[in-house]
Amino acid sequence: MTAIAFIGLGNMGGPMATNLVKAGHKVTVFDLSAEALAQLEQAGAQVAATAADAVAGADIVMSMLPADKHVLGLYFGYEGDTDAGVAAHIKKGALVVDSSTISAETARDIAQRLKQQDIRFVDAPVSGGVAGAAAGTLTFICGGEAADIEEARPLLECMGKAVFTAGDHGAGQVAKICNNMLLAVLMSGTAEALKLGRDHGLDPKVLSEIMLQSSGRNWTLEVYNPCPDVMPGVPASNDYNGGFLVDLMLKDLGLALATAEQSGSATPMGKAAQDLYQAHSEQGFGSKDFSSIYKWFEQGNN
Ligand code: NAD
Repeated sequence: MTAIAFIGLGNMGGPMATNLVKAGHKVTVFDLSAEALAQLEQAGAQVAATAADAVAGADIVMSMLPADKHVLGLYFGYEGDTDAGVAAHIKKGALVVDSSTISAETARDIAQRLKQQDIRFVDAPVSGGVAGAAAGTLTFICGGEAADIEEARPLLECMGKAVFTAGDHGAGQVAKICNNMLLAVLMSGTAEALKLGRDHGLDPKVLSEIMLQSSGRNWTLEVYNPCPDVMPGVPASNDYNGGFLVDLMLKDLGLALATAEQSGSATPMGKAAQDLYQAHSEQGFGSKDFSSIYKWFEQGNN
């Protein structure tokens, strides 16, 4: 049986690792949070005392961490730290699959450094949110060698419904940040439209229904309405708790705009969304779900 190590059991990694266990895989997990570890232990995973212990002997190592510095820190050691990172403990020939959203440059750098140790790498960021992670319906957007992606596929299919190959190392990350830049624009635009309608006496439930059946239809209206009490079970109806944090969306917008700068691509909509999310974060919403951008409009920021 394939031995799997899974590092990073947060909002996304927790349910993803749980789905691997549910599918009957032997999964050894590690996170800095004792609470996250306890939940996975209850779900049936083996808990390791350190990240190095978790990866030792694993055939496939998966990671789901916040940003570039955490992923680089995990594999090669944090800056100023004497610990060299877990890459030194991964067996030769093993496959590392990182699902964190990080820069394409960092993904390519990791692939190259691991290759020097005969370790294979696939960048496999995901789309689908916390609900998709829990339901096992994520979309994996992969970059790397086709054979490595095929090897990871059965595992990814325990956590998701679609596995795409975007291209070589880093291509998964480019596709992912294109998607998230568009998502930020759609979420901000949907919140703006709903608030405008509300200011003119419309019921946001009725307006949402109208736009869903009209040309403004989009994913946020379908499954992630930003206006409180329009849709049950979404962060907007739970004081914007859980979900995908404003500061993580800001990170992704930063990655998108830096990528656009490299290619000289025009991204005025992405820049507008970044400015909006930056202002929203500075107003204390950094740790709320990204649909809370609706509050920015509600608070009369004009
Ligand atoms: P999160 O902050 O909820 O979880 C991150 C986890 O990593 C935490 O449990 C933290 O303790 C752990 N961690 C950090 N450094 C570690 C280390 N060195 N060793 C072990 N554990 C460590 O974040 P999340 O929402 O799960 O997001 C993870 C990644 O997925 C991010 O890159 C994010 O952009 C991306 N993403 C998130 C969503 C979403 O809806 N939340 C959707 C798609 C993609």
